[in-house]
Amino acid sequence: MADQPHRHDHDSGEGLLSVEEAREKVLSQIQPLAPLELPLPEAFGCVLAQDVVATADLPEFASSAMDGFAVRASDVAGASPSGPVELKIVGRAMIGRRPESTVGGGETVRIATGAPVPGGSDAIVPIEDVELVGETVRIFDGVPVGKHVRPAGEDVREGQLLVGKGKRLGPPELGLLANAGFPHPLVHPRPRVVVLSTGDELVPPSEAPEFGQVHDSNAYTIFGALREVGAIPTLAGIVRDDVDQLKETVLSHLIQADAFVSSGGVSVGERDVVKAAFFRRGELEFFKVAMQPGMPQGFGFIEGKPFFGLPGNPVSVFVSFEMFIRPAILKMMGRSQLFRPEISATLAADVSGPVGKTQFARVNVIRTAEGWIAEPTGGRGSNLISTVSRANGLAIVPAGVETAREGEKVKVMLFRASED
Ligand code: AMP
Ligand code: MG
Repeated sequence: MADQPHRHDHDSGEGLLSVEEAREKVLSQIQPLAPLELPLPEAFGCVLAQDVVATADLPEFASSAMDGFAVRASDVAGASPSGPVELKIVGRAMIGRRPESTVGGGETVRIATGAPVPGGSDAIVPIEDVELVGETVRIFDGVPVGKHVRPAGEDVREGQLLVGKGKRLGPPELGLLANAGFPHPLVHPRPRVVVLSTGDELVPPSEAPEFGQVHDSNAYTIFGALREVGAIPTLAGIVRDDVDQLKETVLSHLIQADAFVSSGGVSVGERDVVKAAFFRRGELEFFKVAMQPGMPQGFGFIEGKPFFGLPGNPVSVFVSFEMFIRPAILKMMGRSQLFRPEISATLAADVSGPVGKTQFARVNVIRTAEGWIAEPTGGRGSNLISTVSRANGLAIVPAGVETAREGEKVKVMLFRASED
């Protein structure tokens, strides 16, 4: 219950960090992960760490857009239905190959869609517009230079910026890099994050709890949130409220971790194992944030790897992840847009919170003819995870406001688009 404080000075927010201060404290210490050259499939969704410049024209060669005949436009300029021009077929141009011959005056080369345009020719006459007569073709109309030719460099010129540093590699960027022959772009990798749950009372979801035990749910909330933001989570399991076991588990995962997230054990109780394990070594700092839910937080570095110590209550875990860890992971991934979108919505019911703290109320936001309406999804207890499951946003009731009233506008941070 430590993150639902009853002491009055906490409710007033006195001596606590604001959400913005806490977020700044964390983010100012987080750096993007060192870039790596990753194969395209692994680089998908990652941020490019350097400009990629085209080393050749795209496409690299002029090709035909039609099945037909490659001609010199000047040869057929005078062609008409009553006075066709006859050209000698001197070879073929097939896809994936150098054309068999060039096109001289009075000559033509039979060409397939996508095949390189033979030297000497500058236009394509589609097969359906010609008449084949033995080794020659008859052409009944003039064609402008370039007709049905896809020129080299039409898409990108050699030396032109292909994809800029800082761009997130989505489907078209992946295709463009493949097209231009960059199979291992330099990107900020996805952080590998080790997830720990602390608590003597915890059992895995696969086990039936004895009276008083609870299923470890936080690990799964955190796992999903990490996956969603693009990190690579590893579940390190349940750690007892035992300092040595926690240290051992953390140290044994160091080699494969870019960051750690633990839940539980960061408040003031005597069994608060995260605090006991790291506090004295000065590696983690513990602070209280003027927010509800989610007040106590631990943050620091173990052997240079960020360690996020979240409170134990499931809603606090969700909200703390959204406020602090999600933007930090995005920053590690080299992203510049770190925060969720916020909209302004009208409250469908009163929302109360401690006056000195920012209250994050779980709401379901729907769009109506009158604008966005935010419907609270349940009580404010930080153990009520189903209230998050029914929600798509967190309504922000700022410090200084005890009750936001039905009909009033509030800011809502959307954490998913809809209820699907
Ligand atoms: P703590 O911060 O360790 O005192 O935990 C606060 C509350 O959160 C207690 O009721 C715990 O049982 C609960 N809790 C802690 N860790 C978990 C977890 N991994 N899954 C579900 N509930 C948890
Ligand atoms: Mg605990």
